[in-house]
Amino acid sequence: MATIRASCPTCGDVELTTAHVRVRVCVDDDRGEYLFRCLICRMAVVKGAEARTIDLLVASGVTVDTWSLPAELHEQHSGNPITHDDLLDFHALLEDDYSLALAMDSMLGR
Ligand SMILES: [Zn+2]
Repeated sequence: MATIRASCPTCGDVELTTAHVRVRVCVDDDRGEYLFRCLICRMAVVKGAEARTIDLLVASGVTVDTWSLPAELHEQHSGNPITHDDLLDFHALLEDDYSLALAMDSMLGR
């Protein structure tokens, strides 16, 4: 099993094996990163990496996970962004069943 030297923000250089490291690659934009849990402080560490680094990690046997950007990023939005006051109003609405039912009826055109 290959030895991988990585850097923990707290502990500095740490030596890991391929079993301690995982690679994640976004299938939509090819961004890659590797992650590990530091063997000294147990903190999870995630670092972005160039394709060359990802290729080297994968060639040495590190497991690769792939992920996709959330579909919500491709949605078209209209209207103003939600404000803090909107959230407070929504919270109050959730505590009042009658007003919530009226609001939902209004949204559904009933
Ligand atoms: Zn550490």
